[in-house]
Amino acid sequence: MSKNIIIIGAGVAGLTTALLLSKKPGYNIHVAAKHMPGDYDIEYASPWAGANYMPVSVGGSQAAKWDAETWAPLADLARNYPEAGVHFQECEIHTREKDAGSATAAWFADLLSSNPWFAKVVPNFRTLTKDSLGPGIDSATAFTSVCINTAIYLPWLVSQCLANGVTFKRAIFEHIRDASAPSSHPRGTVDLIVNCTGLMASKLGGVEDTTVVPARGQIVLVRNEAGKMLDVSGTDDGDDEACYVMTRAAGGGTILGGSYQKGSWESQPDPNLAIRIMKRAVAMCPALTNGGGIEDLDVIRHGVGLRPVREGGTRIEKEVIEGIRVVHNYGAGGAGYQSSYGCALETINLIEESLGPRSRL
Ligand code: FAD
Repeated sequence: MSKNIIIIGAGVAGLTTALLLSKKPGYNIHVAAKHMPGDYDIEYASPWAGANYMPVSVGGSQAAKWDAETWAPLADLARNYPEAGVHFQECEIHTREKDAGSATAAWFADLLSSNPWFAKVVPNFRTLTKDSLGPGIDSATAFTSVCINTAIYLPWLVSQCLANGVTFKRAIFEHIRDASAPSSHPRGTVDLIVNCTGLMASKLGGVEDTTVVPARGQIVLVRNEAGKMLDVSGTDDGDDEACYVMTRAAGGGTILGGSYQKGSWESQPDPNLAIRIMKRAVAMCPALTNGGGIEDLDVIRHGVGLRPVREGGTRIEKEVIEGIRVVHNYGAGGAGYQSSYGCALETINLIEESLGPRSRL
């Protein structure tokens, strides 16, 4: 008999899990969430992401495995499904020796390496020659990556789920047990809940995982084009600021970032930080303004998103809460897209284990 599954959350974690699970027989999948694609809200990280494939996971870790498993599906979308809003783009990672030992450089340790674990995963990984680098840059690597237009990709995930029979509804749950009420699922009795609540797993009753904290990312979306994605090991404006540029697929504009302000829930853009972001971006990427200053940037919007960073990494685990089967998939930090397929596959393994013949409540 088919199992009734409710997925809480319609961010990239919930939608990717719903889509991959909907390709298997035997599940009636219902996605219930406070926020859905189309919404922009501080409690909803997914629309704010760049989003690109630029692994910061440590080689040999679970996170690196999930990132590695996600490359091929994203490349397949870029190659064969233009309607998904994912395209290939060259990506350059610039290193300044003076950033060694800083928080950003430590966080980026594998990314900044001249031979990172993902060199064998992405195409065209190479080291750039010193004479090709801009002022202040000591070394750099480059590879072919993808950039995802989240305004197209998230609705595309919904449409693929709908085509496979997944149902969607707005809902706000105070406690995870509330999702198990028969009224929460169109088919009645709920067999298993998948928890994809991102940062708000820190507040959801029955979960309240206080090891998930925000890492505030402020961005500026502009009409100017960068030509390639660029990222640098640090900035001169403090350890919690960052500098990166990426042009989204299909007219999605160019994201200028950013910041990584751990513990900050501030939802409003800081105008001074916005100026610093734009100044750093035009200095790093003169192609944006043909060498002009920030007055030549054509701003679409300023924004803030909160990365759901979890101590110990993304939580993909099964649990029984008040007699209800739950599988968690939350806390992907700044890697929710680039790890999305790996995380969803692992989540589905646990769903199958939880509902399998040898499972017990
Ligand atoms: P969310 O997108 O936050 O979704 C959570 C869902 O749960 C929402 O639908 C919400 O309404 C629902 N929900 C929560 N609590 C409840 C409740 N109690 N009841 C009902 N519904 C609930 N990642 C990359 O891979 N590449 C990048 O380049 C990248 N760049 C980023 C740049 C910025 C500025 C930011 C902010 C993030 C970036 N990320 C990037 C990270 C990525 O955006 C996140 O890891 C990812 O979006 C997390 O997705 P999620 O589905 O777990 O959470």
